[in-house]
Amino acid sequence: MSIEVHTIADLGPDDRVAFFERDAGIDAISDDVHEIVERVRTEGDVAVREYTNEFDGVTVGNLEITDQCERAYDELEDDVCEAIETAAANVREFHEAQVPDDWREEFGPGRELGRRFRPIERVGVYVPGGAAAYPSSAIMGVVPAVVAGVEHVTVVTPPADEMNPVTLAAIHVAGADAVYSVGGVQAIAGLAYGTETITRVQKIVGPGNKWVTAAKAAVRGDVEIDFLAGPSEIVVVADETADPGDVAAELVAQAEHDPNASVVAVTADSDTAAAIAAAVDEQANAREREETIRAALDNDASGVLLARSMSEAILFTEEYAPEHLSIITDDDESVLERIDSAGSVFLGPNTPVAAGDYASGTNHVLPTNGGARVTGGLSVETFMRSTTVQRLSSEGLSEIGETITTLADAEGLEAHAASVRRRLDDESSD
Ligand code: NAD
Repeated sequence: MSIEVHTIADLGPDDRVAFFERDAGIDAISDDVHEIVERVRTEGDVAVREYTNEFDGVTVGNLEITDQCERAYDELEDDVCEAIETAAANVREFHEAQVPDDWREEFGPGRELGRRFRPIERVGVYVPGGAAAYPSSAIMGVVPAVVAGVEHVTVVTPPADEMNPVTLAAIHVAGADAVYSVGGVQAIAGLAYGTETITRVQKIVGPGNKWVTAAKAAVRGDVEIDFLAGPSEIVVVADETADPGDVAAELVAQAEHDPNASVVAVTADSDTAAAIAAAVDEQANAREREETIRAALDNDASGVLLARSMSEAILFTEEYAPEHLSIITDDDESVLERIDSAGSVFLGPNTPVAAGDYASGTNHVLPTNGGARVTGGLSVETFMRSTTVQRLSSEGLSEIGETITTLADAEGLEAHAASVRRRLDDESSD
């Protein structure tokens, strides 16, 4: 299994559906997921433990492992602790720069309007940990919540006979309040509805495989979620100035996350397309997670795409709306100018996606499955709600009084109009 080269002009309707309406296998498991969610909702911890046994192959004792996180940090090698601290500090700094200020302004005489921002009180962060360990996702999910001022940050992460100490240490450094060793659908359902052990949250955030993502879709409505952050995706837009080996390295890196990952390179140069495909194959051979990588390369939504022009390459990318977008061309900024739909953008040959995955400071929890057409990744505002505030003086109310009463009358909402008229009348009798 290696990556296929396609010519964009020759893509048939089925290919276009595979590339642009990809769902990473989520629809197909929807019924099974609903069944698990329903059992956790009605049976609580008993169902959580049973499913943990079935899907993680682990019999958990105490579901709560908050204390283990600090111990794991204390016992970790110094260089790993330092890397966690540095990554967390960079993520914190970038997210602190996002904290919105409350504001109020006068928009007309006596008409003062504004917005204020307050943290959500209880959020749940999913930290994945099945096929690989994701201490980085602990930082990406928890740090922005803490920066936003969330009072109770609960983390759930899949259990294992030996929990990954780096993930536990990262959860500690990031600043979670409560941590439970539960993963997959049962973890999302536990956060959404609460169990004897897990306290129900108001919003669930975080990435995961197709099971986790399908579970977030299933509970949406009963609880807020961030967005669907499923198996990883990347599009690299490259021209003949790009090193095909660098482009291939980006595809192979995202492919190692999950057999359901989708990885694409798009270029208008046929030699570059062929060289990227050859380099992908060569690099995949050398990687430890070759089996996962090859499965992802073989996905219908993965491929090296040959465009007739850079404009066609850009249109393809816009329609794909990838989670990660890397642009390696002789004029990255003007390519970027023409693309609106991408979760996170990496410009130039020295900006590997791994920089944002781990340590540059931007968030790596990003929308997949075309979600980038309507939303961005996790940010401080994900953890906040905004409230509008207004104060009118009698002059401010008189100014818009007739507009209000006319529209209220037109809607047949006479009491609305009356609530305004009595104030206007008071004023005229002054
Ligand atoms: P995970 O924690 O997402 O999934 C592990 C859980 O899946 C297990 O605990 C188990 O309960 C459940 N599961 C596995 N097989 C099952 C089955 N047959 N039936 C029911 N449940 C089952 O960990 P992972 O598998 O390593 O996946 C991590 C994912 O997170 C990858 O797909 C990666 O690409 C993605 N990711 C996405 C982003 C993003 O922002 N979009 C960021 C980081 C990681």
